[in-house]
Amino acid sequence: MEKKKIVILGAGFAGLKLARKLNNNPHFSVTLIDRYNYHQFQPLFYQVATAAINASDISFPIRKVFQESKNISVRLAEVTRINKEKNEVETTIGDFSYDYLVVSMGCTTNFFGNKQIEELSFPMKSTNEALTLKNRLLTNFESAYSAESPEEMEEIMNIVVVGGGPTGVELSGAIAQMKKFILPKDYPDLDFSKLNIYLIEGSPNLLGPMSDLAHKKSFEYLSNMGVNIWTEGRVVDYDGKTISLADGRTIKTRNLIWAAGVTGNVPDGAVTKEELQRGNRMKVDRTSKVI
Ligand SMILES: Cc1cc2nc3c(=O)[nH]c(=O)nc-3n(C[C@H](O)[C@H](O)[C@H](O)COP(=O)(O)OP(=O)(O)OC[C@H]3O[C@@H](n4cnc5c(N)ncnc54)[C@H](O)[C@@H]3O)c2cc1C
Repeated sequence: MEKKKIVILGAGFAGLKLARKLNNNPHFSVTLIDRYNYHQFQPLFYQVATAAINASDISFPIRKVFQESKNISVRLAEVTRINKEKNEVETTIGDFSYDYLVVSMGCTTNFFGNKQIEELSFPMKSTNEALTLKNRLLTNFESAYSAESPEEMEEIMNIVVVGGGPTGVELSGAIAQMKKFILPKDYPDLDFSKLNIYLIEGSPNLLGPMSDLAHKKSFEYLSNMGVNIWTEGRVVDYDGKTISLADGRTIKTRNLIWAAGVTGNVPDGAVTKEELQRGNRMKVDRTSKVI
């Protein structure tokens, strides 16, 4: 009997798990495609960004998982388009035909159309971005030594995290711990009492979709750690030095970390623009089949 061809797009949490389930299944021939040759364990990005662990601790080679596999082929490629009429996926290394297609390409940062913020802020949705953020934080304090004015020092010593979901909460907490335990040792001649960490959230609560207890406790913990929490604050502009909120408030900073939302990675041709739901979600039925 001919094996059915399954193509899985994305070797993240979902794609990798499914490929492992199908590993050595005699009925299926599986191609697992990802733009990176490693799986990223996203929950610990914030630890990489704050220099607590190495990037290699959370990045695992995908090929290693399937070294012994008889039916899983791994391909490093960027998916560019789905051709539903021909049952084919187009990628940067060629086309792949399928009997069944699994779209598990995760999501990316949502800048809500603000190009200026996209260009000047630091997101944290990949290992590379977590490393960029780490380098930014460390070089930021190096530049404090050559600050030429109190205004420049203020821009350096203010770190602003936008988005009070799990990522923003974890990250602002981790930076507060860096301020307390690491930075004064690494930069003994800088005055870290001047370092201000802001967490700005558009809705009335941190961890909005979670329980009232989570709202309350996250606020309490972070406040006790010295994080300045501004709820119901909507950032509307950033010029690389000053953040402006819709209500007129501003903060001077060179360090804007954007954790304010996500939008789905949807390949062209998967669905029409009109079929997409809020945040680029594809509409699916109860079995997660695209409808
Ligand atoms: C900072 C952070 C902290 C988190 N903390 C937690 C937590 O504590 N607990 C929890 O349960 N969840 C957490 N999450 C969420 C969790 O990581 C995601 O829900 C999960 O990764 C989603 O799985 P997925 O398979 O849908 O997508 P992903 O894991 O994002 O995988 C998508 C894959 O698709 C690939 N891809 C995307 N586009 C293309 C393309 N065009 N071509 C080829 N490949 C492509 C990507 O490289 C990636 O490997 C966190 C997320 C972040 C960013």
